[in-house]
Amino acid sequence: MDDATARNEPRQPVLTDPFGRDVTYLRVSVTDRCDFRCVYCMAENMTFLPKKDVLSLEELDRLCSAFISKGVRKLRLTGGEPLVRKNIMSLFRSLSRHIDTGALDEITVTTNGSQLVRFADELYDCGVRRINVSIDTLDPDKFRQITRWGDYDKVMEGLDAAKKAGLQIKLNAVALKGVNDIEIPRMIEWAHAQGHDLTLIETMPLGDIEGDRTDQYLPLSQVRASLMDRYTLTDIPYKTGGPARYVKVEETGGRLGFITPMTHNFCESCNRVRITCTGMLYMCLGQDDSADLRAALRASEGDELLLQAIDEAIGRKPKGHDFIIDRDRKAPAVSRHMSMTGG
Ligand code: SAM
Ligand code: SF4
Repeated sequence: MDDATARNEPRQPVLTDPFGRDVTYLRVSVTDRCDFRCVYCMAENMTFLPKKDVLSLEELDRLCSAFISKGVRKLRLTGGEPLVRKNIMSLFRSLSRHIDTGALDEITVTTNGSQLVRFADELYDCGVRRINVSIDTLDPDKFRQITRWGDYDKVMEGLDAAKKAGLQIKLNAVALKGVNDIEIPRMIEWAHAQGHDLTLIETMPLGDIEGDRTDQYLPLSQVRASLMDRYTLTDIPYKTGGPARYVKVEETGGRLGFITPMTHNFCESCNRVRITCTGMLYMCLGQDDSADLRAALRASEGDELLLQAIDEAIGRKPKGHDFIIDRDRKAPAVSRHMSMTGG
């Protein structure tokens, strides 16, 4: 008998997959659109989805709430760029009721930072306490090359606004060979001086991007080895619910994370699923199997079909992914872009 049963308390709902992993973390892409065109993420001429295919904000709320009623404790809104979706703050606002009731531990967002000057205070007011901001370089010219359309100064102002609003910031940088590799020490020192964590990510083979990914792919094992010539990196058990493994950089006192889907497969501890802005549930970022939750949502006003569809899909969550980037395999591992499934 567990403690809750012994005390006659209602048990917390849990969604458990066939491999015994509890699914407690939902990432939701609220739009496929973006005001940037990062080279590793999108082609410059992207075709975006017709509006009717995209879930309304009310449908997104219903969907997230259904997962929360099933045991999801952490929600991350992402995209595309989540903060460019019209009226997105109303979704944050309505979802914050689950924080107030204690059903949800955390709502977070992954953003390119371009809209933070406008929204940082409101995010805090809606119960958001931590945000991830993606920035791959501290060189304004390189920033423009990587993002194609991004405005570096606006992102820097956004970071300041977020800090002032009281949001804890984690910076995400995709490690790109020949682009930002030599800058990584500078980025670590800058991030840590600002009080931000920094996480490095390996490029993943998601979606066609006009160009060859093997030219950009930089294994983080290599980055880590060269950082160790300069810094003392101490493994720490710090966890944020995501797949990053953290070290403390003794010289700066700050935290550095590594997300290594390519060199180290972390599927055994996977606790998350992802939903696209059209309501497709992907049980694994690196596999094509999905469940159409939009059909279940739109089929009736009640949530019975939706809850059934969620159970059925979690029952199919695969054991893991199998990403490979090499010269012989030109096609991406999965055809969807990261902006569709959300980072
Ligand atoms: N627009 C927001 C942003 O950039 O933070 C949220 C969505 S973006 C798709 C989420 C994260 O995915 C970003 O940190 C981005 O750098 C990362 N990303 C995009 N495409 C990727 C790829 N092919 N491999 C690895 N990371 C990727
Ligand atoms: Fe937009 Fe984020 Fe993709 Fe860059 S990584 S194009 S900011 S969705």
